[in-house]
Amino acid sequence: MATILVFSERDELAWELLGKAGELGREMGLGVAAAALGAADPQAYVTRGAAAVYTSRNDELQTFEASVYAQALSQVAQQAEAAVILIGSTRRGKELAGRLAQKLNAGCITDADTLELKDGQLLCTRNSLGGATVATQSITTGIQVISVNPGVGEPVNSGEAGQVIEVELSLKPARVKVVEKSDKGQGSVDIEGAEVLVCVGKGLARQEDLKMIEELAEALGGLVACSKPIATDEKWLPEERIVGLSGKIGKPTLAICLGISGQVQFTVGIRDAKTIVAVNNDQNAFIWQMTDYGIVGDLNEVVPRLTAALKG
Ligand SMILES: Cc1cc2nc3c(=O)[nH]c(=O)nc-3n(C[C@H](O)[C@H](O)[C@H](O)COP(=O)(O)OP(=O)(O)OC[C@H]3O[C@@H](n4cnc5c(N)ncnc54)[C@H](O)[C@@H]3O)c2cc1C
Repeated sequence: MATILVFSERDELAWELLGKAGELGREMGLGVAAAALGAADPQAYVTRGAAAVYTSRNDELQTFEASVYAQALSQVAQQAEAAVILIGSTRRGKELAGRLAQKLNAGCITDADTLELKDGQLLCTRNSLGGATVATQSITTGIQVISVNPGVGEPVNSGEAGQVIEVELSLKPARVKVVEKSDKGQGSVDIEGAEVLVCVGKGLARQEDLKMIEELAEALGGLVACSKPIATDEKWLPEERIVGLSGKIGKPTLAICLGISGQVQFTVGIRDAKTIVAVNNDQNAFIWQMTDYGIVGDLNEVVPRLTAALKG
């Protein structure tokens, strides 16, 4: 039976995708399979909705290298008779999707935000034209490779256990060797999963002023994030804190934008927030087009007062 095959190097994302694959599989008459390649515990996949969970002990899979994983996944895809391959749209996942599609001579869509079956066709929506618009796209080749953003599916806990299938893979070694690994350190944060994001932009005059932004974030139980120039030009915050097209896309309950003009490359990262609040001294800034609440003013005056009010 042809299948929807799911892979992500992040287990939780793979489980979300298995939930979505289950829905689509029922509509499309396809089975659901998972490639638990490199997963620490393939058994953790068996009740997540996949009828077959493919694993391998091949040493080449110990470290993620996209060219090797593309070889592995293309071999698993053949065994699983995959018609649709859903890959978690992480940085690694996107590279893998492109390489895999090339190997399978398949069409590829990356960064899908929604997946929906309409008139027998799988439709994906994704940001287009630098985030200025949302395009609906579909793949016309026999095999479809789609990298899917977090939050599209819900993990399921199925009563039925899938079958774990260990596969023999023939893999050419990676041409890139990992010589050292190190932790990202204390700065490592999960912008995508945060409920409250306090985003700061070029309206911040000095690096020392980040302290007041951190205090506001702390008072709200949120995380500090930033527009791109704060990380890439000023280097005041690590790049993993960037929100937007070249950074992280969040779906927080509350996003506060401080001294951010609201260019589309930034706003794609927070436009799905439930409530958007901005502080900006320019009453004509683009950011007002998407805010629920706003204060026209100097963030240096407004932020400490907000923090003080929250602390009561
Ligand atoms: C291919 C591409 C990808 C990109 N990807 C991203 C991305 O992922 N994320 C991203 O953020 N950008 C991205 N950019 C850059 C983006 O186009 C903007 O340049 C950037 O978002 C602007 O950042 P900003 O709003 O902080 O700065 P600015 O546009 O300079 O805005 C600063 C704002 O602060 C206000 N301000 C100034 N002083 C104060 C004060 N004291 N109090 C209150 N308000 C004040 C100003 O009125 C202004 O509105 C990308 C660009 C390209 C071309």
